[in-house]
Amino acid sequence: MKKGSAQAGPFFFKGEGRRMKGEGRGDECGEKFPSSFVLRPSSFVLRPYFCPMILPIVAYGDPVLKRRAVDIAEDYPGLAKLIEDMFETMYHANGIGLAAPQIGKGIRLFVVDATPVAEGEDGDPTCEDFKRVFINPIILEESGDEWSCEEGCLSIPNLREEVKRKPRLKIEYYDEHWDLYEEELDGFAARVVQHEYDHIEGVLFIDKISPLKRTLLRGKLNDISRGHVDVNYRMKFPK
Ligand code: ZN
Repeated sequence: MKKGSAQAGPFFFKGEGRRMKGEGRGDECGEKFPSSFVLRPSSFVLRPYFCPMILPIVAYGDPVLKRRAVDIAEDYPGLAKLIEDMFETMYHANGIGLAAPQIGKGIRLFVVDATPVAEGEDGDPTCEDFKRVFINPIILEESGDEWSCEEGCLSIPNLREEVKRKPRLKIEYYDEHWDLYEEELDGFAARVVQHEYDHIEGVLFIDKISPLKRTLLRGKLNDISRGHVDVNYRMKFPK
């Protein structure tokens, strides 16, 4: 889909919506090959088999969750394994998104798999096939009238609150192959990305609720920091 198109409907990013950066523009690289001739260099390489690991999820109160994360370079050590581990960790905790600070790494990386949200009659179509890796992402634009939705977070178990966010966004990011994309998202898919993007900015969803509500939650939040919480996945508590 061309840049600037206003047709960001709910089915916008079902494959065709994700446009690789540079596609459909004046090609600086000259020759354009039919896609069937393009093979990723990685297709020739025998990849080591990684046994994915479940990592402990950092709980509310850990300073890593409050720090702005930093960009990574393409040669970041162990990146492929880290991404696999993050997906494994997220699935094990029944999450639909996980950001690197949540496993203790202050880097601009998050993974999302919101496909379960699309399932069933009441499923949200914006989440169909919505599995992605976001590396060094930049939200270029957010638009529309704010809407409220209940959010939760794997770092803040058993606590859900209504959060207001804008319904549409445009984001630029690298995927796990270091291909650069620009993508427009809306609906619940946009919300998942906004929540995870906040994590790499050092912001939690409870920072977006009213100060009064946050005050009322203080006791529960302190309990979480101390590990006084009933949770069925591995966590790391700061206190
Ligand atoms: Zn979260």
